[in-house]
Amino acid sequence: MQEQREAGAPGVDGAETDVLIVGGGPTGLAAAIELGRRGVSCVLAERRDAPSPHPRASVVNGRTMELCRSWGIAEGVMAHAMVPTPDLGVTWTTRLAGRQIGRLPLLDDQERLLRDLAASPVLPAICAQDRFEPLLRARAARESTVDLRFGWTATDVVDHGDAVSAVLRAAGGEEQAVRARWVVAADGSRSPLRDAVGIGLEGPEAVSEQVNVLLDADLTPLVEGRQSVLFYVVAPDATGFLIALDGRRRWLLNVPRALVPTLDAAGCLPVARRAIGDERVDVTVVSVAAWTVTAQVAERYRRGRVLLAGDAAHRFPHTGGFGMNTGVQDAHNLAWKLAAVLDGSAGEALLDSYDAERRPVGTFNRDQSLRNARGIAATGVPFADETFDVAAVEDDSPAGEAVRARIAAAIPAQRPHFVFRGQELGFRYDGSPAVVPDGSCEPPAGVEEYRPSGAPGARAPHLWVERGGAPCSTLDLWDGRWTLAAGPDGAAWIAAGADAARARPDVGLALVRHGVDVAGDAAAFTAALGVGADGAVLVRPDGHVGWRASGPPGPDGAAVLVAALDQILARPHRPRSPA
Ligand SMILES: Cc1cc2nc3c(=O)[nH]c(=O)nc-3n(C[C@H](O)[C@H](O)[C@H](O)COP(=O)(O)OP(=O)(O)OC[C@H]3O[C@@H](n4cnc5c(N)ncnc54)[C@H](O)[C@@H]3O)c2cc1C
Repeated sequence: MQEQREAGAPGVDGAETDVLIVGGGPTGLAAAIELGRRGVSCVLAERRDAPSPHPRASVVNGRTMELCRSWGIAEGVMAHAMVPTPDLGVTWTTRLAGRQIGRLPLLDDQERLLRDLAASPVLPAICAQDRFEPLLRARAARESTVDLRFGWTATDVVDHGDAVSAVLRAAGGEEQAVRARWVVAADGSRSPLRDAVGIGLEGPEAVSEQVNVLLDADLTPLVEGRQSVLFYVVAPDATGFLIALDGRRRWLLNVPRALVPTLDAAGCLPVARRAIGDERVDVTVVSVAAWTVTAQVAERYRRGRVLLAGDAAHRFPHTGGFGMNTGVQDAHNLAWKLAAVLDGSAGEALLDSYDAERRPVGTFNRDQSLRNARGIAATGVPFADETFDVAAVEDDSPAGEAVRARIAAAIPAQRPHFVFRGQELGFRYDGSPAVVPDGSCEPPAGVEEYRPSGAPGARAPHLWVERGGAPCSTLDLWDGRWTLAAGPDGAAWIAAGADAARARPDVGLALVRHGVDVAGDAAAFTAALGVGADGAVLVRPDGHVGWRASGPPGPDGAAVLVAALDQILARPHRPRSPA
């Protein structure tokens, strides 16, 4: 970023757009989809012509799958996903074909499974990033206000105070100026834009050096009867893990950089063979990527007209698979706010809530990813310099047995690394200026267990209801729009909502009353939202609760709702009411 010039500096010709998105990885594409759905004009510049063919992320978690569902691509994700069998788990081995040290079953608790199924209309998926990104690209391309520039690099980004200018450069040297109201920096973990605007990172910079090797190998005979999302390999000459990308032939081996002499097929094949441990298996190295594991979060997510999202804002260890998911969800949080500021229904201060809401989530996910990595070190798989001596792990000796027993004993404690329904669905935006607290005091969401909550700041829970005679998730009731959802005796709130909608027509408030607009189990509906039959919640366009009343309104119901909308949207002509 160049030095700031005077506001409105002349000299920038070329395209005008509302939002320039720099970077077309999962985060930038999610931002384009969400902005496009709201009719916001945006230009997305991505320097790569095609998505990286090397898979990185492999977990599309529960909340991201809900977003995919609302974008109409969840089935596409599932078509590329590993199909789980009842034996699905995580397995620790000396080598894949060697001794099995222990397992963590993932689908063994029927009650938990039922709760997981009830929590969302979709389930998380194992779908490799190289399959996921093309789906996002195709989806973004359907938005008529989105101008996708693959093969274009954004340079010379300058914040003029009232707008941002940039130059887009094609691989062939062609250049185009662009002027935007806002910039989303989704330019990845090294984010030149983050550096250019002078935003630093907090947390350890280089936790460990790793190599990721995509393998083509039929490992079916070695994994049959013990399907696993991950196979850990503890033998020191091949220590790391194998990720089952499709449960069939695609495997992603992750090992410390020190085990690989050269970053090519010749350098990686021997360690892949050692990790598999069966010379008869045909293995092909398809691609190799080295990466530095970091655990950092940007000290702020916004400076001026530049907003950081995705890896540009946070970079986590891969343990838990939260990197890509957190980025996609950042974009989802940011897009409706940008759209509201751009269409004038919100004040610019609404954008400050992006930092207030997403940075704590990024920090929590960073910390939890670190905890997961340290937990794995307790099972003999090194993380940074933390591990213990596993040299005897393959031995038929008391020493070997002792190492294996120590690893096996540490396995049950790894559950939060793999079972994280609370972390993926239960994060709340407590303390955000775009949330009106109602005085309720709920404990923070746990990692493993998701507790549905309708508290202000929480993702408004999913429940199946009936609309027009067809089953419908409550998530669909408030997908992408402001919604006042009231219990069956909530006629007074609906009337107040109608008045509030008239008072704030630019907000586009939708009204839903259980028993009138939707049918189903009314008690479950109000219990999920945490209100009485005559209470109501105001759900924001990102599906998070912005305000809640457990009982009926007084005579000033409409004014209460208007005040809540004005506070959340930081409408400039209305002072914020004190939190
Ligand atoms: C080995 C590994 C395993 C992982 N596993 C998981 C997992 O299981 N689950 C998970 O959620 N995450 C995982 N991650 C993390 C995940 O890959 C990243 O978090 C994710 O790719 C971040 O998406 P992003 O869009 O923010 O950034 P990126 O995917 O890095 O995209 C940034 C894009 O910006 C482009 N760009 C940069 N500068 C410019 C510019 N000036 N102009 C135009 N374009 C530019 C780049 O070309 C790039 O395509 C893993 C990462 C690694 C390395």
